[in-house]
Amino acid sequence: MCPVMPSDHEYVLLEKTISILEDHILCDRCLGRLFAWLSTATTNTKRGGSLKLVLSMMAGREVKTGRREVGTRLIRCLAENGLSEEARALAVKESIDFDPSGECEICSIDGTSIFDRMPAIAARALEAANDVEYDTLLVGSVPINRMAEREEEIRGKFNLLYGEPLKSEFNRALGKEILDITGKTTDFEHPDIVFVYNMEKDEISLQINPIFIYGRYRKLQRGIPQSRWDCSECGGKGCESCNGTGRRYPDSISEYVGDPLQEMVKGTRYKFHAAGREDVDALMVGAGRPFVLEVSEPRVRRPDLAEATQKINERSKGKIEVQGLEMTERERAQTLKAESSENIKEYRAIITIDEEVPEKALKRAESALSETTIHQRTPNRVSHRRSDRIREKRIYEVRLSKIDKETLEGHFRVQGGTYIKELISGDEGRTKPSIGEILGVNAVCKELNVTAIHSLDAHHNA
Ligand SMILES: [Zn+2]
Ligand SMILES: [Zn+2]
Repeated sequence: MCPVMPSDHEYVLLEKTISILEDHILCDRCLGRLFAWLSTATTNTKRGGSLKLVLSMMAGREVKTGRREVGTRLIRCLAENGLSEEARALAVKESIDFDPSGECEICSIDGTSIFDRMPAIAARALEAANDVEYDTLLVGSVPINRMAEREEEIRGKFNLLYGEPLKSEFNRALGKEILDITGKTTDFEHPDIVFVYNMEKDEISLQINPIFIYGRYRKLQRGIPQSRWDCSECGGKGCESCNGTGRRYPDSISEYVGDPLQEMVKGTRYKFHAAGREDVDALMVGAGRPFVLEVSEPRVRRPDLAEATQKINERSKGKIEVQGLEMTERERAQTLKAESSENIKEYRAIITIDEEVPEKALKRAESALSETTIHQRTPNRVSHRRSDRIREKRIYEVRLSKIDKETLEGHFRVQGGTYIKELISGDEGRTKPSIGEILGVNAVCKELNVTAIHSLDAHHNA
């Protein structure tokens, strides 16, 4: 006997199909989708059509071999509820009357299948993305509740646990339609754009995912905050104290970097993520501070970064400077922020003291502070925006030298997030120990430069 002769299983399958079609009107595709787990190398439409075809052949044989009543009933069922062309042709041939007006209970809207809208939807999607640069995409949809509910109901009733939901087939089919036209690829993790089709409203929406640009900035002029700083009196509306500008500072690093890039990629807004921030009055020199600029809804995804660098540096000449721009991923922005309080930073400070101290005392302060852990309570000057708590910070190295009787130069290598000004002054006892405390003088940070940021990001040490 042929080993692939139908087993009991297959007969159960055919019986089940008959039971389903006795109760429900289903097109080939929606019937086939209920049995999507049966084989993979075919489509749902073929799978459903094949089941109906086999049943039509069986019904035809019944009609011819005597059990005419059984055969007639099955042919009518397939012709009416199965919407089967073969069964309908057979019915006409055998003079079996049937009602041809039925439509699929799951996928039909106003007489046509939602799947028949596919070419039109694809065309509209491409129209929406007409002036958008992208390589990868993803397709999603919002199904009509009734469709999903009906499908669930049938699967439950006939114990078909592994069928494919309509939404999933729809997304796959629409995706394929669009990919075939555009030659682009699908990306489930980080698609450049996402199309979402709302079946109820018959609307397609386009979501353009952000791009991320990594780089390092140097700040060459004091008095520039990292992010836009609105006037605290008026909250940005404009008042007397800010001369109507609405701002406490006229410019910011994020704007110097973000404005030209947003313009170049035709985005709608941006966010500036950085590995910490320096004080407004501190410079950022050396190789610069790592940042990631996130630009939302860019219509250009592959900007010329050499040109961008030039544009930014020209516009902010003498104020800030960027280098090492490269395209990156969202994760980089997150690690950048997360590691900022862990990495090692270097500073140079000019310190004024109110009493001359001997060289020996400087050496003593150096060794007392190097390779130690200090305790910093949130400084007075930032207590309005930071929670008041005590932070432990690692100090790796402090070097002090005299410029004149009242001026010292200090070099610091410390854990990210250390408040250097307070490490110098002691901040009325809030930072312990401090240079002022050890030297027994009033010490004030006059000028501060960040000279190096050692990123933990192994691939991008600079
Ligand atoms: Zn259907
Ligand atoms: Zn104001």
